[in-house]
Amino acid sequence: MATVRERLERHLHVLVEEVGARPPGSPANRRACDHAAAVLRAVGLEVVEHPFTTRWWEPGDGWVETTSGRVESPPDPYSPACDVRGHVVRVGTPEALEALASAEGRILVLHDELTREQLTPEAFPFLDPPAHAAVRSALARLRPPAVISLTGHWEPILEDPDLGLASTTLPNAADVGLADGAEVRVVLEGAVRKGAGRTVTARCGPRGGRLVLSAHLDSKATTPGAFDNAASVAVLLALAEQGLEGLAPVEVVLFNGEDHFDACGEVAWLAATDLSEVRANLNLDGVGLAGGGTSVAALSCPPALDEAVGAWVDRRPGWRRAEPWIASDHALFALAGIPALALTSEDVHALLGGLAHTPRDTVDVLDLDLLVDAVAALPELAGMLRDADVGRSRAPGG
Ligand SMILES: [Zn+2]
Repeated sequence: MATVRERLERHLHVLVEEVGARPPGSPANRRACDHAAAVLRAVGLEVVEHPFTTRWWEPGDGWVETTSGRVESPPDPYSPACDVRGHVVRVGTPEALEALASAEGRILVLHDELTREQLTPEAFPFLDPPAHAAVRSALARLRPPAVISLTGHWEPILEDPDLGLASTTLPNAADVGLADGAEVRVVLEGAVRKGAGRTVTARCGPRGGRLVLSAHLDSKATTPGAFDNAASVAVLLALAEQGLEGLAPVEVVLFNGEDHFDACGEVAWLAATDLSEVRANLNLDGVGLAGGGTSVAALSCPPALDEAVGAWVDRRPGWRRAEPWIASDHALFALAGIPALALTSEDVHALLGGLAHTPRDTVDVLDLDLLVDAVAALPELAGMLRDADVGRSRAPGG
């Protein structure tokens, strides 16, 4: 019989090395789902799949050329291909963008206030800050032939197929020759494709009062996604292979859209789910990164559960408490007032820039011992969620 470590290695090999980048809607994503569903079926679980259609991004190369030279600049996800020239118009604030009468024939360079964070995509279902909607509608009105975002932020600023704008992002430090009025050429490749996918789930025991164990199976189009998030999926599959009977009632949900503009797999699962039947959630995102431990944040938990989890974490070598953070799939539960534990790697937020969503996120960044330990720890954490008195009176976030 295979050991937990061998099982983890096999799942990581399939998801990261055989399949690789697996954006929802892509053929690679369907192969990753096929693997997960086969593993869950092989251990006798009833697999239920929640289908969806979406658009996905097939990346290409890109570069920006000015009188000072040429710099590689990959297209933003979902950017249409282009080969355009124009004079730069620089815009740093929403007010300046609003005041711009036309960008016809100009290359729009966004910077400063406009590039501090990613612009929420139009189709993102869970929130849309009004300031973001205003920037999107200004861009839709101006329709420049290309947009260059100069930023210190780690993610591309525009990542929205509904914008339909050719765009690329450069770090602030790469701002060479992009002064107002400068002549620039922007060449971007890549394509938006339509496709189908599904969120794979498996249940053990009745629906009512169940614990949802979740991890997102999808990745960005530009990364093999080992620590984000094949490692977490591997942990849940290895746990299922070990047997879920002791944790019942439980549902394993391999969300398929956490890193996708429209959260397609989350929406598909929520549409088929009565959240009042969910007792608690345990979500894994970004576990297993070498060089640190595993962190646990408790959200929407009653005080006694909060304390019990904290005390458990303090006793277990290599584990850390983390402040509640609202992102990833545990937020779906926490914001609905359902107790949620979020597992990730210690200091993960400081490490996101150089690693997450990049080709460097390979199995080499993982520490298998952390993943073996996570498989062993999950039944204990799940037991605390099962035994706790979880009323729904508490406000989320605590
Ligand atoms: Zn993730």
